[in-house]
Amino acid sequence: MSVLVFAEATQGQFKKAAFEALTYGRQTAELLGTACHALVLGPADNLAQLGRYGAQKVWHVTHDHLASFDSQSWAAAIAQAAEKTGASVVIMSHTSTGKSIAGRVAIRLGAGSVSGASQVPSLEGNELHVVKPVFSGKAYATFAIKTEKKVISVMGNAVRPEEVGGEAPVEQLSIEVPAPRVQVVEVQRVEGQVPLPEAEIVVSGGRGLKGPENWGMIEELAKVLGAATACSRPVADAGWRPHHEHVGQTGIAIRPNLYIAIGISGAIQHLAGVNNSKVIVVINKDPEAPFFKAADYGVVGDAFEVVPRLIEAIKRFKAQQN
Ligand SMILES: Cc1cc2nc3c(=O)[nH]c(=O)nc-3n(C[C@H](O)[C@H](O)[C@H](O)COP(=O)(O)OP(=O)(O)OC[C@H]3O[C@@H](n4cnc5c(N)ncnc54)[C@H](O)[C@@H]3O)c2cc1C
Repeated sequence: MSVLVFAEATQGQFKKAAFEALTYGRQTAELLGTACHALVLGPADNLAQLGRYGAQKVWHVTHDHLASFDSQSWAAAIAQAAEKTGASVVIMSHTSTGKSIAGRVAIRLGAGSVSGASQVPSLEGNELHVVKPVFSGKAYATFAIKTEKKVISVMGNAVRPEEVGGEAPVEQLSIEVPAPRVQVVEVQRVEGQVPLPEAEIVVSGGRGLKGPENWGMIEELAKVLGAATACSRPVADAGWRPHHEHVGQTGIAIRPNLYIAIGISGAIQHLAGVNNSKVIVVINKDPEAPFFKAADYGVVGDAFEVVPRLIEAIKRFKAQQN
């Protein structure tokens, strides 16, 4: 009865989401008084480093059928690995990969499942009580998983990755991975930017910026802060920014430590994707803009005056630090 954390690697590299899932898994294992193991599918660098985040052992599966991602064959592999290693709880990140496999793994294991958990669970008898946001982030619900086997996917930024140990032993695990039924024809990656779901800081622009030609200052502010850029839906719909930057109910839901909204009104559909941010800063020239009600800090002013001054102030502050 161990906790098995599927540690996701992108192009062989583990990202923050994997370390968050491991931290969540280690804390869940401590709660249950059991071991926390990591599972890695396919090629990845430096597997032993997962021990730093609480994995006591790393199970590694290599197989020709894992060369590219296929939700059905990967879910089958994870379920088999859980059975072979005697895991009763399987944890993974609530990324696009995790979202597409958590339910499939749960079905194969006959497990109860909660997707998008936002807190480490509590233990009530044999049940794990798992909290997740509901109603577009307006409320939190607690779900009791009553089955013997349990599958949980963990929302980005739900826990901070914690380094608790050294390197973990890596052991090969032999399992039968079914052949993928979907063939990946082409992959187009956005390079050289902080990925939005992973970002600690997000600078986001709305229709108040008037046009794509004005995004230079958003990008510059993001650059000085080491942030990712995002936008409201009409901005993506108008083609001012790429669709993968659109946040909200119909876009990506994010939980950065700092969300800076510039020229965005704060419609409910936009807030649904960002209101779990730890700190929200709003810059809007309309003091009645609804976003101010959800803001921790607000600047009433013209973005074209405020943002350049903010960039200069941050640059001055950084220069003083060096
Ligand atoms: C089913 C459905 C789903 C939707 N899903 C999403 C979603 O996922 N994400 C999303 O974002 N929207 C979504 N929307 C659209 C949403 O309702 C709003 O229309 C949208 O969020 C508004 O975008 P905006 O704030 O950029 O633009 P606007 O509402 O036009 O607001 C622009 C803001 O900029 C301010 N402004 C103007 N000039 C300046 C200036 N110079 N300096 C500073 N501030 C300035 C204005 O005061 C205003 O508050 C959805 C709508 C529907 C019906």
